[in-house]
Amino acid sequence: MNCDEVKLELALWVGNDLDDPTRIEELRRHVATCPQCRSQAKSLQASMGVLGSIDSNPTFDLQDSLWPELNARIDYLEKAPRNPPAYGKWAILLACGAGLGLGLWTVSNRPAPTSEPPKTVIHPAPETPTPYSSSSQHP
Ligand SMILES: [Zn+2]
Repeated sequence: MNCDEVKLELALWVGNDLDDPTRIEELRRHVATCPQCRSQAKSLQASMGVLGSIDSNPTFDLQDSLWPELNARIDYLEKAPRNPPAYGKWAILLACGAGLGLGLWTVSNRPAPTSEPPKTVIHPAPETPTPYSSSSQHP
């Protein structure tokens, strides 16, 4: 087993995710004799330790493999229905049709634009009798 092969499976070995005892023994022997791979394995173990210390209330066990729980979750998600029920599609289609119909009705019932400018009505100011005019009208 060479260093490249070890590097491919080193993280699995450190995370206890290897099942083959023969492979585990080969990795262990190589890491024991190769300073470079041993250093990488220690680095990975330190990273696992840091990750474990961050989560004060661990939701998973670092000693055991995570794959059984992940497989269970994947199986659950694969068996869960992905498509909405058939009536859901019809409801969406009806809502889109109703919205489109309402939009068309609004556009067709809008008052036609006129070419005349809007009329401005100027109301004359109410006549207020001035003292001079009232005196002249009543002799
Ligand atoms: Zn090596």
